[in-house]
Amino acid sequence: MEGQHTLIAGPCSAESRDQILATAADLQDVGLDYFRAGIWKPRTRPGVFEGVGNTGLPWLQEVQAKFGLKVCVEVAQPRHIEAALKAGIDMLWVGARTTANPFQVQEIADSLKGVDLPVAVKNPTQPDLALWTGAFERLSRAGIEKLTAVHRGFTVHGQKKYRNVPLWQIPIDFRNAHPDIPLLNDPSHITGKREMVPDVAQMAMDLGFDGLMIEVHPSPEDAWTDSAQQVTPFRFKEIIQSLETKTPGNGKGREDLSALRAEIDMIDEGLIDLLARRMGVAEEIGLYKKEHGMTILQIARWNDILKQGKAAAAEQGLSDHFIEEVFKAIHQASISTQRKAQGFNKG
Ligand code: PEP
Ligand code: MN
Repeated sequence: MEGQHTLIAGPCSAESRDQILATAADLQDVGLDYFRAGIWKPRTRPGVFEGVGNTGLPWLQEVQAKFGLKVCVEVAQPRHIEAALKAGIDMLWVGARTTANPFQVQEIADSLKGVDLPVAVKNPTQPDLALWTGAFERLSRAGIEKLTAVHRGFTVHGQKKYRNVPLWQIPIDFRNAHPDIPLLNDPSHITGKREMVPDVAQMAMDLGFDGLMIEVHPSPEDAWTDSAQQVTPFRFKEIIQSLETKTPGNGKGREDLSALRAEIDMIDEGLIDLLARRMGVAEEIGLYKKEHGMTILQIARWNDILKQGKAAAAEQGLSDHFIEEVFKAIHQASISTQRKAQGFNKG
């Protein structure tokens, strides 16, 4: 990984002075931009370790003094900010559960008025781009200029593969709307499993993210929080070294790429044309169903369409999941088109 990427690493939680200093000692030569450690831990459910609190601040000051590392902590309340500022913490981050609450973000913004400190904002737990954006607007109105976004995935009920589903389109949309705000990826909280961290980190590089926040613990199995997703400092270095970074390019691409892009553009045009034709037929079907008093949704027909589509897609080497997502989107649009044709939902 090259130096132009922002790198934040450190334990999920500060547990003891020894643990913090041991982790920082092992990370001092990696070129970290910030050493992280949570000292106030917002936990989804009560009755578990909620952070060492103010006790951990002097440990982070030692990290600054002994290893010359900048340090950052998560803040969720004005009293956290006050204590962090007093301790000379170099950067603050707003956690996912906090970003989800505009009242709390506003309180944070209010207590940061007149403070010139970098602030990173994790995406909210729910897949709501406006809520994430709103947090930046509140901080920016309070005069905070050095802002960073951290994509840490989203809560989706029943999901097994990821702890927090990445839903990559959301950070991509964020980047499009705010090209000037550096966008980092947090593969630790997305995956929840250390084995998957390198893969998601590489995906972030492939998508042109500006850096990574990764949880590192000297003995991950014994960590008091997020034990399954933390990696040792040694493993962290291996991961960072193995990542292939890519140049974002200028959107035009090189000669060879432009030919391929022209081909993609042509295919996309064809797709749009086909979709428009399909919706035209859906309109006629909508009128027919109205005339004959039939429901718009014919579940057996929908199942047939999906089955046929999947079979045809499999022959072309397209995945089941992909074709199901595409067909679901088309089917939704078709239902809306039919309703419109029947005179509903015009506005
Ligand atoms: C964390 O960084 O340890 C943390 C609590 O993250 P998030 O807010 O993304 O859940
Ligand atoms: Mn964590």
